[in-house]
Amino acid sequence: MKRMKWWGWGDEGVSFTHEDKPGLGPFLKRHLDLDVDRVRSRPVDFETLDVPEPNLPVQVRAALEAAVGGEHVSTEALDRVAHARGKCLRDLVRHRRGQIGRIPDAVVRPGDEEAVRAVMSAAVDEDAVLIPFGGGTNISGSLEAPPSEARPVISVDLGRMDAVLAIDADSGLARLQPGVFGPHLEQQLNARGWTLGHFPDSFTHSTLGGWIATRSSGMQSDEYGDVADITRGLRVATSAGMLVIRPVPHTSTGPSVREMVLGSEGRLGIISEATVHVHRVPERRTILGYLFPTWSSGLAAMREIAAGEASPSVTRVSDSYETAFSFSTKRSDSLLDQVKSRALREFLQRRRGYDLEAMCLSFIGYEGTRNHVAAQRKLVGRIVRRHDGICIGSGPGELYDQKKFDTPYIRDFLLDRGALADVSETAAPWSLLGPLYDKVMAEARASFAELGVTGYIMCHLSHSYHAGACLYFTFAFMPSGLREELEEYDVVKSAIQQAFVDSGATLSHHHAVGIEHARWLEQDISTPGVQMLRALFDGMDPGANLNPGKIVPSEDVTAPPLGE
Ligand SMILES: Cc1cc2nc3c(=O)[nH]c(=O)nc-3n(C[C@H](O)[C@H](O)[C@H](O)COP(=O)(O)OP(=O)(O)OC[C@H]3O[C@@H](n4cnc5c(N)ncnc54)[C@H](O)[C@@H]3O)c2cc1C
Repeated sequence: MKRMKWWGWGDEGVSFTHEDKPGLGPFLKRHLDLDVDRVRSRPVDFETLDVPEPNLPVQVRAALEAAVGGEHVSTEALDRVAHARGKCLRDLVRHRRGQIGRIPDAVVRPGDEEAVRAVMSAAVDEDAVLIPFGGGTNISGSLEAPPSEARPVISVDLGRMDAVLAIDADSGLARLQPGVFGPHLEQQLNARGWTLGHFPDSFTHSTLGGWIATRSSGMQSDEYGDVADITRGLRVATSAGMLVIRPVPHTSTGPSVREMVLGSEGRLGIISEATVHVHRVPERRTILGYLFPTWSSGLAAMREIAAGEASPSVTRVSDSYETAFSFSTKRSDSLLDQVKSRALREFLQRRRGYDLEAMCLSFIGYEGTRNHVAAQRKLVGRIVRRHDGICIGSGPGELYDQKKFDTPYIRDFLLDRGALADVSETAAPWSLLGPLYDKVMAEARASFAELGVTGYIMCHLSHSYHAGACLYFTFAFMPSGLREELEEYDVVKSAIQQAFVDSGATLSHHHAVGIEHARWLEQDISTPGVQMLRALFDGMDPGANLNPGKIVPSEDVTAPPLGE
C-alpha cells in the first residue's frame, strides 16, 4: 500500500535540501528574509493527534465489508488522517498543526468494478457520504468532508485498481483502471511500446481517476492534449447505475456527458474505468533551454510558435523573477561550468545587450522521429531568433526534466522555516495575457504591502493553445505574526484569484475548483452556469451522498476554513 506523508508531500524520508544549492540561501534571505538554517516549526507528532473514534454503525460496516471484503475496510487512525485532505497549502498547514478536521470514518479499497458498484449501493442505501480518493494530491480542497457532516464518511481509495486492461493498437486507445499512479501506468504502457504522455508535476503520486476528476494537464499537453482531450470512454458507478460513455472519437449526442464527468471531483460517482488515447513511445525526446531578453519577448515568441507550423511538446517561459529563482536552485558548479556561465553572461550583456535582471528562461520540448525533432527545432529556432532569444542547449532542459518531480518537496521545506508558499494558475486568450500578468503581479504585491509582509511572486507561461495559454503564478511570504497566518494567506491568494476573473481569465486552468476556488465560480461561468451544475449534481445525487460541497458549495461550506 503506497501512502504519502500524512502532513506533507511525497515519500517518507525524502525531503528538499538547500545544502547542495549555494545560491538558494542568499536568495531566500534577500527576497523573503528567510534563514535557511533556522527551522522554526515542524509537524506535530502523529501520536499527539486527537483522532476521534469512527462513526461507523454496524450495518454500514457490514455493507462495506460485503462490498469489498473485510480486509479492505480500514478504520486505522493513520489511514483515516492520510485520506482526510489533499495537499493544498491550507491542508498542509492545518495537518502540520494537528488540526485534522472531519476525517473519514473508514477507508475502503475496492478491487474491481463490481466492488465499486457495491460500495456505491451500500453508501446510498445507508445514507453515508462517499469520497473517491486517488493519490490525494489535489490542491483545490477536493477531498475534505464538510466539517459538520454527521453521516458516516467513507473514503474510497482506488489504489488496488491499477491495471492496463487492454490496448486497441489500431485505434491508439487503452482501457485503464482508475487507481493507477503515473509511474506504474507508464511502466505498463512502455513495456508494450506505448505512452499516455500525461506528466503533471504530481505524476509520481497522482492517479488516472484523479486526473480525470480534476481535468488535469501534464507538462507535454501541447503535444498530447490535456486529460480532457485524452479521455474518450468512461465507466462511472453512479447512484442511478452504471454510466457508460463509449470511446468514440467524436459524437453529436447533445451536450457532452463525457465532459460532465471530466472535472466532476467525485460529485457524480466513482470512475471505475477509462479509455484513453495512447501513443507509440517516441524515438527521440529532448528539451532545450532558451533565454529571452524580456518577458514580453518570451510571450510573443510562445504566441508565434503556437500560431505557426511548429508543434513542440512543451512550451514554457518563466518571467525574470522565476528565472532568478531557478538560477538560485542550481547545484554547485564545476570550475568549467563557472567559466562557461561567466562567458555566457558576458556574451549576453555585451554582444546581445541583455539586461540580466530582466532575462527570461524558457524550455521547449520536442518529440518524435529524429527528422521530425530536427525540423521542429529549426522552425522554433527561427522564431526564437526573431524575438532576440538564444538557445542554451539541452543541459538546462535535461536538468529541469530530472528535477521537476523533486520540486514539490520545497513547500514543506519553506513551511519548516516559517514561510507560506503556494500556486495559482489560470488561462486566458493571448491578447489578455500581458494585462493579466501585470494585474496579478500588482494585486499580489499590494496584498503583501497591506499585510506588511515580505513576499515574492513569480510566473511562467506553459500549456499553449491556438487561442491562448496558461499563466502559472507561485508566491511566498513570511507571515507577519500579528494575525492567523491562514487569514494572511487568504488575503494574498484571494487577490490573485480575483485578479484572474477580473481580467477575463478562468479561476483555474488545471487545478480544479474543490472548495478552494468555489468562491469565484459564478464570476467565471455566470449564474446560469452555476445553476446548471447545481441541477446536474442535485439530479444525479439527490441524497447528497457524493463528495458534497465541492465545486458548487453547499450551505455549510461556502469558503475554505481559515484554520480552526
Ligand atoms: C506539488 C503538486 C504538483 C501538481 N502538479 C500538477 C500538474 O502539473 N498538473 C495538474 O493537472 N495538477 C497538478 N497538481 C494537482 C493534482 O495533482 C491534480 O489535481 C491531480 O489530478 C489529482 O489526482 P489524485 O489522484 O491525487 O486525486 P485526488 O487528490 O485523490 O482526488 C482529486 C479529486 O478527484 C476525485 N477522484 C479521484 N479519483 C476518482 C475516481 N476514480 N472517480 C471519481 N472521482 C475521483 C476525488 O474525489 C477528488 O475530488 C499538483 C499538485 C501538487 C501538490
